[in-house]
Amino acid sequence: MRIKKNVVVIGGGPAGMAAVISLKERGIEDIILLEKENRLGGVLSQCIHDGFGLIYYRKNYSGPEYSALYEQKIAEKEIPYLTEATVLSVRSLDAEAYRSLDAESYRSLVTVQTAEGTLEYEANAVIAATGCRERGRGLAGIPGTRPAGIYTAGTAQALINLQNFMPGRKALIVGSGDIGLIMARRITLEGGQVLCVVEKEDIPGGLKRNIIQCLEDFAIPLYTNTIVSNVYGKERVSGADISQIDAEGNVVAGSTRFYACDTLILSVGLIPEEDMVEDRHRGVFLCGNSLYVHDLVDDVTLEGEMVAGQVETFLMKLAAGQAPDETRFAYPGIETMRKKRAQLVKRKKDMARKKAETGAKTITCIMCPNSCEITYDLEGGMCGKGPEYVKNEILNPKRTLTSSVKVTGGAIPLVSVKTTNGIPKEKLMDAMKLIAELGATAPVVPGQILCKDFMEEGTDLVATKAVKRYSLDNTSEIE
Ligand SMILES: Cc1cc2nc3c(=O)[nH]c(=O)nc-3n(C[C@H](O)[C@H](O)[C@H](O)COP(=O)(O)OP(=O)(O)OC[C@H]3O[C@@H](n4cnc5c(N)ncnc54)[C@H](O)[C@@H]3O)c2cc1C
Ligand code: SF4
Repeated sequence: MRIKKNVVVIGGGPAGMAAVISLKERGIEDIILLEKENRLGGVLSQCIHDGFGLIYYRKNYSGPEYSALYEQKIAEKEIPYLTEATVLSVRSLDAEAYRSLDAESYRSLVTVQTAEGTLEYEANAVIAATGCRERGRGLAGIPGTRPAGIYTAGTAQALINLQNFMPGRKALIVGSGDIGLIMARRITLEGGQVLCVVEKEDIPGGLKRNIIQCLEDFAIPLYTNTIVSNVYGKERVSGADISQIDAEGNVVAGSTRFYACDTLILSVGLIPEEDMVEDRHRGVFLCGNSLYVHDLVDDVTLEGEMVAGQVETFLMKLAAGQAPDETRFAYPGIETMRKKRAQLVKRKKDMARKKAETGAKTITCIMCPNSCEITYDLEGGMCGKGPEYVKNEILNPKRTLTSSVKVTGGAIPLVSVKTTNGIPKEKLMDAMKLIAELGATAPVVPGQILCKDFMEEGTDLVATKAVKRYSLDNTSEIE
């Protein structure tokens, strides 16, 4: 079946959701959002930790909470969307016209696989917001076996946070990107042991705030300039060697150590997912992680909104019979992000050098991704929250705890939860034992209190997503 649409948006993650809402707010009608999973939210659904929206909203949401903001807007604005709809290809509607730059060539043909069969959409414009996939080649070229027990960080995260399945008990994490750091904390909180994180570069890849709250809080060592140099095990991983490397990437003699472990978690980078776009004709726009990999959802959201603005201009030009500009990939956000990333890396290096030179003692504020260094005299920081954070960090360090609780009778087995305020850092592991004993009965609504005065710390444990009752006709639906 072939259906005509004004704009087709592919991917129901934060980029696609922001784009489709912004299109609607700009008065653009006859649009549809297509998502291959059985729910909207993209990677946010499995990111049950907090740290989302710190810049855009100046609030600290968990992944499911951030997603719910956009899912609610989509429902309120009655924006049509299809789930379990996998886009197989996007190509110019007329390849000949495309080559001759005929106006017709701007239109696209989107082929979609749904449960009911294959659909085709003819669209004036297409926004591809299809996210990214994980690199699985972190161990390429390393001697040893490839037994069971090797997971990418995102797969391990989905298993623990969505399926209630622990991928292993004793893990070694390869790569210090944010997903690896977050998984180090998650595995530890779930009662597993993380032996160390190894990073082949000389500085860690992830945000400083994640190094502090995911590794240092749990005394998990991070070894930079270090690689996994051998993997052991027949059916299941039984251990790995790690070795230091020099500036040329050669193993330093005598530096190799063996770690007995049953799991290797690879957090070695992400690759934009945009293969289904077969020809990059005018009329196809990319945003979010399908364009380049972003650290923060805030930037992804902003880009989704900006790309909707580009589509609006494109459609206006088409309607006026003018040739649209060639700007859809030379997108201003990319340069800004690249500069920001380079500045961040430089700041990390400068800070490390200054500390080594002056011996100045500082504490890193982890309230937002800026990770400002504050001195013990409460100097420094880009906003007033820094000194307040440091005072608390010295006197009574607290952390918001995010985790999940088992659900009886739910369409999904777990509901993500968080404490409404921080609890003392040293009580985190006891808090997890208490959470393991808790249960909820479906339906569960976001904000529902699952444990009042949790740990007698004056905070409540609340649900951060909705869980519908299990039903035969709609077994997997999530509100
Ligand atoms: C583990 C992890 C932790 C993170 N932690 C933080 C954090 O603490 N704070 C923060 O600000 N940011 C964080 N981020 C970054 C941020 O969340 C991501 O950059 C952002 O979610 C990317 O959004 P996206 O919409 O581009 O991609 P995604 O969220 O990946 O969404 C892409 C969507 O497209 C769909 N799709 C793909 N291919 C097709 C197809 N062919 N047809 C139909 N649909 C398709 C996918 O199913 C998915 O739903 C984290 C990211 C990860 C991976
Ligand atoms: S002091 Fe820096 S890191 Fe802390 S909240 Fe303010 S800007 Fe963010």
